[in-house]
Amino acid sequence: MGSNRGRRIVVAAASAGGVEALQALLSRLPADFPAPVLVVLHVPATGGRALPRIMDRAGQLSAVAATDGEHLQPGRVYVAPPDRHLLVIGNTVRLSHGPRQNGHRPAADPLFGSAALAAGPRVIGVVLSGTLDDGAAGSAAVERRGGTVVIQDPHESAYGGMPHAAIAMTRRPVVLTVRQIAEFLDTQTRILVAAAKQAPDPELERYVRLLLHPRPAIPAGAVITCPECGGPLRGEHEGTAAVRYWCALGHSWSPETFAERHSAAVERALWSATLRLDERWRLSQELAESAELRGHDESAAMFRKAADQARAAADAVRGLQAPAPAADVNADGTDAADAAGPLDAADAVGAAGADAAANAAGAEDDVRGTGDGGRG
Ligand SMILES: [Zn+2]
Repeated sequence: MGSNRGRRIVVAAASAGGVEALQALLSRLPADFPAPVLVVLHVPATGGRALPRIMDRAGQLSAVAATDGEHLQPGRVYVAPPDRHLLVIGNTVRLSHGPRQNGHRPAADPLFGSAALAAGPRVIGVVLSGTLDDGAAGSAAVERRGGTVVIQDPHESAYGGMPHAAIAMTRRPVVLTVRQIAEFLDTQTRILVAAAKQAPDPELERYVRLLLHPRPAIPAGAVITCPECGGPLRGEHEGTAAVRYWCALGHSWSPETFAERHSAAVERALWSATLRLDERWRLSQELAESAELRGHDESAAMFRKAADQARAAADAVRGLQAPAPAADVNADGTDAADAAGPLDAADAVGAAGADAAANAAGAEDDVRGTGDGGRG
């Protein structure tokens, strides 16, 4: 903490109608505004690159696209880049490609939640115009950790969904017009806050950790699914041995048949992943070429990168599909090396491949323009 002790941190969230609200807010903050301002605006994964410039021009504070690891500075506006969550960890800005929250990346809840965890009572959360309810849970976290939640008057907001939801989730929200919010921030950020010792918050810590280091894992206690219908299976046991598995529809499986059908299902899933990744590769190449034709070199480079990643991920998954050699085949040395093949592929996916697959999956949404698509 050190020099930052006692200084406020402002986190702001907006969605539909939010650009105008943010512009209006920033235009009213003075050049000597004493707190950093972190901004999440819902944008599609491929859009929003002009946003820092728009925010920079809005008023006297300098606005930048947030970069990972940068230290928070007073009077600076940090805008979440497209397709990344914006987090506050300690006294730094962190970007994460963690799972979408409420269908959005960037989303408000990760910013508010991480700031609440890092800075407790020093946080002022600002919820502006937007539909639905991203930011409501984050606002509750800010308040729970001793921070302040300021909400744009839903009557003034172009879209009142996010303001209404945040009001509903908090006990003492400060509801103001944008003009009043600017005055409120200017006053409140000049008051230093005592850095009280914060109680541990295991649930919020878990949430922030998941966002910062996304590690897809099957939750403990997850059920096995029926290869026939995808419904949950329950095991029938004799002693400790499973003798049969039943699903809710009544499909039943003896253990060996089930294991065989299950590996067939794994194979289908791998094939399906390979096909999607190959599609992604071809599509990205096409998009890169057409971007090149139109002289959009930056987009072209982005699509080329996505194509490379998709190709690497497809190759890694294809490696997993190589049939495991029968145990008695590898009498000679060469086959023994082959036997290590699928395992190596698995390792490759574990390391670089998984990353590439994750990026490719994210990039796939970029191309489709769905998922995060459209501010809402
Ligand atoms: Zn079934």
